[in-house]
Amino acid sequence: SQNEQDSRFYGDFSLIPMYEPSNQQEAYDMVYNGFEFSEKIGEPVLMRIVTRLAHSRSGVETKAQKPQNEISFGSDPRQFVLLPGIARKRYKALLERQEDFVQASEESPYNTYIDGANKKLGIIACGIGFNYLMESYPEGCEYPVLKIGQYPLPKKQMLQLVEACDEILVLEDGQPFVEKQLKGYLGRGIKVKGRLDGTLSYAGELNPDTVAHALGKENKSKFRIPDIVEMRPPALCEGCGHRDVFIALTEVLRTEYPAHKVFSDIGCYTLGANAPFNAVNSCVDMGASITMAKGAADSGLYPSVAVIGDSTFTHSGITGLLDCVNENADVTIILSDNETTAMTGGQDSAGTGRLEAICTGLGVAPAHIRVV
Ligand code: SF4
Repeated sequence: SQNEQDSRFYGDFSLIPMYEPSNQQEAYDMVYNGFEFSEKIGEPVLMRIVTRLAHSRSGVETKAQKPQNEISFGSDPRQFVLLPGIARKRYKALLERQEDFVQASEESPYNTYIDGANKKLGIIACGIGFNYLMESYPEGCEYPVLKIGQYPLPKKQMLQLVEACDEILVLEDGQPFVEKQLKGYLGRGIKVKGRLDGTLSYAGELNPDTVAHALGKENKSKFRIPDIVEMRPPALCEGCGHRDVFIALTEVLRTEYPAHKVFSDIGCYTLGANAPFNAVNSCVDMGASITMAKGAADSGLYPSVAVIGDSTFTHSGITGLLDCVNENADVTIILSDNETTAMTGGQDSAGTGRLEAICTGLGVAPAHIRVV
């Protein structure tokens, strides 16, 4: 999740181009154009969006839908057979393309150098950081700004900014990905401000207030949170079936089995971790409920309970259950089946109506399956 990790490191590690939009329109355009760019360079393109962009809305101007490309396999039939000998050659070829990717970034409409009169500071504003910067300077920024929306970083524009300005401020959401590249390991040479020197907090999201603060300004947002609005964590909907599961589960476990632990998974039911249930001891990644419950049971925990939804189960819980069957693990697994993919919506669950059959097919003894 972009709350803690920064997927730009995956793009860097994979040596492929990346897009990072500053607003919804750019996100739309980048996806639209990204397919063509990817076809042109013959590599995947990583699209990074951050939490606040994903959790906000805006109107976008749409374009005509393009017809889907015909399937094609390229001229090299062994392109995707990544045996070590082939993978080494492909890696070398990918390294040779890096300069082309930098050049594509230099020519990209998503990377823009905007000059400013005050050269005491130069600002590199990545993705949504540019939007936040513009909130502080609705009439235009007094400092030169390099807006970044495509990686690898555009060398020419970076040099132009560094040569023109006394010091550089980097605005980026997530980790100091650009700041570290500019600064280098020893931090000598270019004067760079950002998350590493405390100008911006290392942890936490970037937002218009922190950006304004980093520039010695105050964010003069017209929209304040009304006093009547209380902060409240997300909660399971009233009437949600998962509520019944956690009410019954905690009632039994707390009174009868105080040593219990409940390993949960990714979905709406993760909210069983919050009050009033406070029923969940772990939620790590998809499928980790069953595998962690098994690990804990193997280490002597009893009762070791996993709670997983029907969609997550078919996505990545099945292999863990097979492991439990193979080793006759002493675990209790609850498949909390709401017959849909509720958290993201819009998809059917891949196991609707067949969960029992899947479990017996994996080797769970029918006597061990209870349907409530
Ligand atoms: S599964 Fe999720 S969306 Fe559906 S009722 Fe429960 S909390 Fe609400």
